[in-house]
Amino acid sequence: MQTQLLKNTQSDIKTAGAILANGGLVAIPTETVYGLAADALNGKAVARIFEAKGRPMDNPLIVHVASFEDISRFRLVSEIPDVAYALAKRFWPGPLTMIMKKGEAIPDEVSAGLDTVAVRFPSHPVAQAIIRAAGTPLAAPSANLSGSPSPTTAQHVMNDMDGRIDAVLDGGSCEVGVESTVITLVPEVPRVLRPGGVTVEQLSDALGGIDVDDAVLHQLKEGERAASPGMKYKHYAPKANVILLKCTDDEFVRYVNQNAGVGVAALCCDEDLPLLGGVKTLSLGKRGDYDAQAHALFDCLRRVDGYGGVLTVYSRLPQTDGVGLAVYNRLIRAAGFEVIDLA
Ligand code: AMP
Ligand code: MG
Repeated sequence: MQTQLLKNTQSDIKTAGAILANGGLVAIPTETVYGLAADALNGKAVARIFEAKGRPMDNPLIVHVASFEDISRFRLVSEIPDVAYALAKRFWPGPLTMIMKKGEAIPDEVSAGLDTVAVRFPSHPVAQAIIRAAGTPLAAPSANLSGSPSPTTAQHVMNDMDGRIDAVLDGGSCEVGVESTVITLVPEVPRVLRPGGVTVEQLSDALGGIDVDDAVLHQLKEGERAASPGMKYKHYAPKANVILLKCTDDEFVRYVNQNAGVGVAALCCDEDLPLLGGVKTLSLGKRGDYDAQAHALFDCLRRVDGYGGVLTVYSRLPQTDGVGLAVYNRLIRAAGFEVIDLA
């Protein structure tokens, strides 16, 4: 299959909408990462997403809408809980996905057999325009091959998906850079299953009490059931081995310099650059600037492999407040939970 490269123009957005309405696959820009979209109400089209990504069939997809009203208009959920209105008012459109009891229109391919469905209203104007042009909600996981870092540019998508999907619409680089925050509204107390651009602190502030699933910070134990199936897989990983160092800033620089050599890289901050020697460096941005770090993370993880010959990548264990928690959650999976404690 030839993958068309579409641009951010009215006519290309119309083309993307038509491909989607006809059961095709189009990678679309959103404010989080690029999504691999298909008509969410067409089970056959959705099944092609799993095939193109090599995604395990038990990992459900997020349904993207172009307004809050689309949820009831397309019968996506069986009931909208009160908290959904409150969260939508404060955080939609934006990087927050809400899980509710699924409605009759949702094919099993989308929910992966669960009785719930994840819904998001993205803020990216091009994403909204494509959903409207398609005339249907769009199921869209990240547009990478399963297991590799999520794509934040159209070029990342092409690297993984060229020849596997109908089209990619290039809308520039994604602002947030990590996937949406996922919260389930099904239990009595809403529970964060995946951290993202909307922070746990913001959600607590909006709702009072919320829970954070154990799998956000920790590896699931053998045989333990994942509330969010996606959290149980090794994920976001470059081919090189990522190792996280739990340490102070001084210890980080000392350890990396001591272990420097061909085939070693450091995922670091701007402030480290003049202090590191004998390793390839990839900066996530200024120390403490979590937004910048989230924005740069997946591009850096992809660039590691582009260097060729890099076998080991050292990074600090990130902080867990604010958007730092989303960076922590992705990096610890990229590292397969391998952390060296230098304390
Ligand atoms: P992706 O679209 O690739 O960012 O992945 C979507 C994430 O949302 C995965 O971690 C899924 O496991 C999770 N997810 C989607 N739908 C549900 C659902 N109904 N219940 C729990 N987790 C879900
Ligand atoms: Mg993904």
